[in-house]
Amino acid sequence: MNVQFKHGIEWSVQPVAAHQAQKDYVCPGCSRAVQPGTAHVVVWRNDSIMGEVSALAERRHWHSGCWRAA
Ligand SMILES: [Zn+2]
Repeated sequence: MNVQFKHGIEWSVQPVAAHQAQKDYVCPGCSRAVQPGTAHVVVWRNDSIMGEVSALAERRHWHSGCWRAA
């Protein structure tokens, strides 16, 4: 896991390997599905005003390229 700053916000970014990706997610970057079996990243805010539990509940799955371009 690593920490990145984007748009003035601190984010935790957790890579997900292809074999770990077993569900469909909707990528917030392109609004298309992150297919099972696709290596991608899970991203959440480090500074959520609602606290860590809420931040974890609001994790988002991004295509790796979409996150880089976000
Ligand atoms: Zn995407």
